[in-house]
Amino acid sequence: MKIIDLLQKDTLSLSFEVFPPKTETSFDSVKTATEEIARLRPAFMSVTYGAGGGTSQYTLDIAKNIKAQYNVPTLAHLTCVSSTKETVTQKIKEIKAAGIQNVMALRGDIPAELEGADRSHWDYQHAIDLIVELKATDANFCIGGACYPEIHPESENQKDDIRHLKEKVDVGCDFLTTQMFFDNNLLYNFLYKIREAGITVPIIPGIMPITNANQVERAMRLSGSFMPQRFKSLVDKFGTDPAAMKQAGIAYATDQIIDLYANGIKNVHVYSMNKPDVAEKIQTNLSDILGK
Ligand code: FAD
Repeated sequence: MKIIDLLQKDTLSLSFEVFPPKTETSFDSVKTATEEIARLRPAFMSVTYGAGGGTSQYTLDIAKNIKAQYNVPTLAHLTCVSSTKETVTQKIKEIKAAGIQNVMALRGDIPAELEGADRSHWDYQHAIDLIVELKATDANFCIGGACYPEIHPESENQKDDIRHLKEKVDVGCDFLTTQMFFDNNLLYNFLYKIREAGITVPIIPGIMPITNANQVERAMRLSGSFMPQRFKSLVDKFGTDPAAMKQAGIAYATDQIIDLYANGIKNVHVYSMNKPDVAEKIQTNLSDILGK
């Protein structure tokens, strides 16, 4: 099932993100966690791609398993920037052979040791290069791309970031998923600007439930997201009490989702990662709204 077709529903639907195991030893525990999430019957599940592609086989293994066992549509992430054309072409063939119809086409982060290096000879510079390649296959993939309500950390300004986003959409992105954000007004402002720039594809907001205080620093470092005072107060109050922090973080994410839905957003992607209890709690909190 293509994600673009799932997005036509008129009621709220949730999708969940999981990440593949980093080593073979953790494969079974990750597989079990992702199966528990699949049992919640989300609209779809996305499986991330380890930076640099080192764990790429596991992305496909986990995505295939979720689809085969639970018939939950899957979105396989794929990055390109530090890969060769040969590797990426092979991965695309494997995704198609696995019967996966949805691909999240990403540039990927520049490996720390290569920051500042001359990249002009690299096979891929930006996500757009990968999208063009995916479109050129005969697989008829549904293609997703990433977008950044608070601008991508490498962009100098939002105008340029949105211009590049439009180029990405124009070559064949069917939908966009956002980086996490903790203040919905940032999303509403972003939506206004991208619609004004002529980007009309569906946007799926990404919400991350922060369930422990350590995650806050990491989330801010990775995404550069703004932390509203309301969220900071919550971390100050509950950060040292793991159970209370988890409950408060889930409540905050639930509240963000309700506000998004109340303002016309139908599909929300939850960065619950490999935490079935968090995914389940959010779904339970929204059970009447979701009709589940
Ligand atoms: P791009 O779209 O290429 O944009 C990167 C930067 O380049 C931006 O500043 C953009 O404005 C600029 N740019 C784009 N095109 C051009 C152009 N033609 N000329 C000049 N500048 C340009 N990382 C992983 O390793 N694995 C994952 O599974 C993963 N999943 C993600 C899922 C989502 C929803 C999001 C939001 C991010 C994800 N990431 C993942 C992180 C992502 O790889 C990084 O944020 C990366 O730095 C940018 O990827 P991109 O696809 O957005 O890049």
